[in-house]
Amino acid sequence: MAITDKIYVKNHQQLASQLETSFPKGAFKGATLDILFQGEGLAKLDEATRERVLDFAEDFLDCDCEANPHCGCAERKFISYLLELREQGMGPDAIVDVMSDDYMLYAYPGDVLSFLDNSVRTLEAVETLADVDGRDDVAEDVQQKRQRLL
Ligand SMILES: [Zn+2]
Repeated sequence: MAITDKIYVKNHQQLASQLETSFPKGAFKGATLDILFQGEGLAKLDEATRERVLDFAEDFLDCDCEANPHCGCAERKFISYLLELREQGMGPDAIVDVMSDDYMLYAYPGDVLSFLDNSVRTLEAVETLADVDGRDDVAEDVQQKRQRLL
């Protein structure tokens, strides 16, 4: 399962009752994207929540794809966001705190940790392939990227 399947909406019950409808707890579930982040219920949310919902929509759902918000861009952008936080030196707990402050989302720190480990391993594999292929420039780029995640 991708990390984006393990990102949840904070105060989910409370938001559902403000919107007077139900939606899944997973932030990237299709119905959550439709109802919470693109829905017409924004006006029903309290101000603090509304701001964060709008921030999320602006930062992750702003692409022009025809399938928006179900095109996969949101997931890709969110993964970059997580990796950027890691590059700034944050550990899993701090990353969860920041996503909660920024967007009212949460994840389990253990899931974030596995995601970061997997990212590093994927980059290691790419680096090895690039080395084998004699693509030194690529190998070097990937190595630098990987080191920023450690
Ligand atoms: Zn898109």
